[in-house]
Amino acid sequence: MSELIPSLSTLRALPQVQQPTYEDPVARQHVIDRLRALPPLVFAGECDELRTKIAQVANGRAFILQGGDCAETFDGVRANSIKAKLRVLLAMSVVLTYAAQVPVVKIGRIAGQYAKPRSKDTETRDGITYPAYRGDAVNGFEFTEDARRCDPERLVRMYNASASTLNLVRAFVKGGFADLRQLHAWNASFVRDTHVEKRYEQMAGEIERALGFMEACGVGGETMRTVDFYASHEALLLDYEYALTRIDSRSQAPYDTSAHMVWIGERTRQPGGAQVELLRTVRNPLGVKLGPTTTGADALEIADRLDPTRVPGRITFITRMGASNVREKLPPIIEEVEASGRKVAWVCDPMHGNTFETSKGFKTREYAAVVEELNGFFDVHEQLGTWPGGVHIELTGDDVTECLGGAFQLSETDLASRYETTCDPRLNRNQSLELAFMIAERLNRYRGKYATESPAPDWNE
Ligand code: PEP
Ligand code: MN
Repeated sequence: MSELIPSLSTLRALPQVQQPTYEDPVARQHVIDRLRALPPLVFAGECDELRTKIAQVANGRAFILQGGDCAETFDGVRANSIKAKLRVLLAMSVVLTYAAQVPVVKIGRIAGQYAKPRSKDTETRDGITYPAYRGDAVNGFEFTEDARRCDPERLVRMYNASASTLNLVRAFVKGGFADLRQLHAWNASFVRDTHVEKRYEQMAGEIERALGFMEACGVGGETMRTVDFYASHEALLLDYEYALTRIDSRSQAPYDTSAHMVWIGERTRQPGGAQVELLRTVRNPLGVKLGPTTTGADALEIADRLDPTRVPGRITFITRMGASNVREKLPPIIEEVEASGRKVAWVCDPMHGNTFETSKGFKTREYAAVVEELNGFFDVHEQLGTWPGGVHIELTGDDVTECLGGAFQLSETDLASRYETTCDPRLNRNQSLELAFMIAERLNRYRGKYATESPAPDWNE
């Protein structure tokens, strides 16, 4: 093993939380050895390309759209569900690009989002207690003793599920599905009678005319037919992320080849902890979730640990303050980080600070609270003169009923009809598209006022 990557025993000796407890250490080691022998899922050059794009975000020249399931499931590895997710992300991205006229960096919470941190180690139902579900990468969702046992074999299934998802995503985005002339088709099965839908159709019509004009003028070509799309997930499971960390043969530098970008969660970002120690060594662009108890000093300490040489595009701070906290808690963090001269991409996760449980026991979020946190995020950045660099959303391409409100005014009683998430509630496709219009409006209003001296990126799509 290269000296550039800490050994597994070094990592295991460090403070760590949220890791599964396996009964059989031999089976666990066997899985790690098998994973180490399998091919990387992404290429180091792609991670570098994404890092360069995120550097443009940090410079106020582009915007990140990061979204997907809270928890992917092995059962969810199906063409239709992957296609639907991609379709909603592409539609949102077009809304943002067209309405706000800003290049959008598209990143899925996809092809690897199989492990979950939990606030409680166990779950009790009707007096019976079993270990909590920690994502399909660790144990089963079913509430039985057998399903809830942590099984290292699931790490191999995670790898295979990630590989087949990524393969389809790559085929879709490069093989014609993402062609801008498919704008209407992406929307074909959306419910057609909402104001969101009408707005989208109108915009798609305008883009179609513009494309026709460009083609007649002889401009267009490949950039209109394909998009760059990147995969990301929370780097939670040390065994898995370690096994996928490889030395790139060109640069001789380590990369976590499980995804283009990985992030560290709010619960696992301890500066001396194992997650930070492993990710410190890899060259991927990294996200760090920051909740309402974070101070500016905390944020700087993590950034200095992960990125001592201030590599452009290396750090994205994903803030998840909650709608009622964002205006008070976010400004001091931004001010302290900016005062240090460090440039990061500031991304708003308006989901994780706004979760609550209904009286019937559904974990949910109010669409209005999501909008409120986003408005707070944009207001704070406008007041400070900094760039609101992106959004991080839990969503699905299906018509689920997991979050309240939005175009169809989903109520608490509606939640039972199609509540499918195994972890946090996701926006459905109408709610997601509606949110994209809201974000585009805010971004467009600010874009003209925001002063950046950095040159415009030479990539666009
Ligand atoms: C998540 O992104 O699903 C998550 C658990 O977020 P956080 O670490 O911000 O709580
Ligand atoms: Mn979540």
